[in-house]
Amino acid sequence: MERTLIIIKPDGVARCLTGKIVQRIEDKGLTITKMVKTTLETPKVEAHYAHLKDRPFFSDLVAYMTTGPVILLEVTGENVIQVMRNLAGPTDSCKAPAGTIRGDFGTSVTQNVIHASDSVEAAESELQRFF
Ligand code: UDP
Ligand code: MG
Repeated sequence: MERTLIIIKPDGVARCLTGKIVQRIEDKGLTITKMVKTTLETPKVEAHYAHLKDRPFFSDLVAYMTTGPVILLEVTGENVIQVMRNLAGPTDSCKAPAGTIRGDFGTSVTQNVIHASDSVEAAESELQRFF
């Protein structure tokens, strides 16, 4: 069994997509083991995206992630890290295929509705940061 961090980003929460996203996770047979609604502070978002700090979109990304409440989820299941990346789809919502969360609900490369950890190491450190 593996676990991962999912964040329903501010656009997803504001557009009332939480129920639909949770339904997709549960329909896939994964288990939500923690769930918290909160508004993220700038330093935590900067730490979470520290590997992107030299990219031109970094300040817009941090501003977007702190605009309103998010939902933090710990999701548990077999190969859950890869399975959730597949459910999320590619980063850019405009290129993500229909049937993926980003392809169906995302509106841009930045406003792409969810975060999903990309490795076992990232998942463990992100879960520690946010829970
Ligand atoms: N992002 C952005 N512009 C870009 C690439 C990424 O605004 O050109 C944002 C987007 O919200 C993305 C986040 O930065 O989800 C983290 O980027 P990463 O490359 O890690 O994509 P992810 O792992 O979320 O698919
Ligand atoms: Mg990433």
